Amino acid sequence: METDDFSIKRFLKYISEGELKGLKCNKCSNIIAPPRLKCNICGSSEFKWVDLSGKSRLLTYTIIHVPPKKFASESPYAIGIVQLDEGPRLEARITGFDINKHAQILKNGVELVFEPIPSGILSFKPLI
Ligand SMILES: [Zn+2]
Repeated sequence: METDDFSIKRFLKYISEGELKGLKCNKCSNIIAPPRLKCNICGSSEFKWVDLSGKSRLLTYTIIHVPPKKFASESPYAIGIVQLDEGPRLEARITGFDINKHAQILKNGVELVFEPIPSGILSFKPLI
């Protein structure tokens, strides 16, 4: 495959081969993943592929209990925003944890945690 194929299709092909790659902007060095037509910082469309680690911070996530029809059989599932160590943020499925146990929080309820509250924000814990 051509090295100047900066398509989503190529991005997904790399992942299917066990590699996570992003685009590095030749002009400003911004790292982009998944690929886009132009750099979101400087507008350039000259890139090269670079290896990304896949290590990320989970910035936020939510559990989907009422999904679109095509994902109905997969409910409940988690969707989150991850920020790769190299910078790009992606929306992604979050897997590998006991989502049903997590979902029980909604079913079973929560109770107040009696603790000092310097921030003024109360804490509640799951009744699991
Ligand atoms: Zn750029």
